[in-house]
Amino acid sequence: MPTLQEMTVGFPATDLLYLRDAYLRREAAKVLRVELDGKRSYVLLDRTIFHPKGGGQPSDRGWLEWETGSATLRKAMGFWDDRGFFVLHYLEGRLPADRVQMRLDWDFRYLLMRRHTAAHLMDHCLQEASGTKSVTLGSWLGDQPYVDYAGSVPKEEDVKLALDLAERYISDDLPLHFAVFSASDVVGLAPPNEERLPRGVSELRVVKIGDFEWIPCGGTHLRSTREIGSIQLKGISGVPGGYRFWFDVADPYA
Ligand SMILES: [Zn+2]
Repeated sequence: MPTLQEMTVGFPATDLLYLRDAYLRREAAKVLRVELDGKRSYVLLDRTIFHPKGGGQPSDRGWLEWETGSATLRKAMGFWDDRGFFVLHYLEGRLPADRVQMRLDWDFRYLLMRRHTAAHLMDHCLQEASGTKSVTLGSWLGDQPYVDYAGSVPKEEDVKLALDLAERYISDDLPLHFAVFSASDVVGLAPPNEERLPRGVSELRVVKIGDFEWIPCGGTHLRSTREIGSIQLKGISGVPGGYRFWFDVADPYA
């Protein structure tokens, strides 16, 4: 069984369709390589709509379908190398086809997009409320989502102000903007979500909410803040070097 890196030798980096359109739920792809692992398969496609596990975001869920069958995606895994970013798809069962339809578990992804965009908005609102730059140490957007921030636990009134600001920016329905910056222009911005950027990476996708700061991020975002619904604080606890902000998104009037 080759390593994931070995599976990609001779192929170009994966075309990350979710970066250009996070709302894409279904799309065709060409199968480049399949490796059977017992009853499961590792699959390299030329393009993908599936965001891999990484940057605090769980892997997308979904299915690959072909003329005579389908298989459940157990996990999408991504890694950088000198040629760019690759996504490998770990499937339940075999894949006897050279072209597939990718189909996304949209309900799950949309929840992740709402949590992810909410986390960016909270970064900004905590910063605006406290007057000190938000430095994220880590995050988790699966069950019981949280963001870890460096520094001491903020004052209760600052947290309240941050949540009020977030509510206002959600009802203002601020659009999200996307661009690609050269890696050198990203220096000084918040650290990117993808850990371990290799030296070969020359460009990074950046995101901003309304006219707030640019953030390097290859994640999946909403088109505008109103789709977040509302942000609910679930608690704040200490972590080494900082604090954990437990939150979730909810429908606005739930
Ligand atoms: Zn992001």
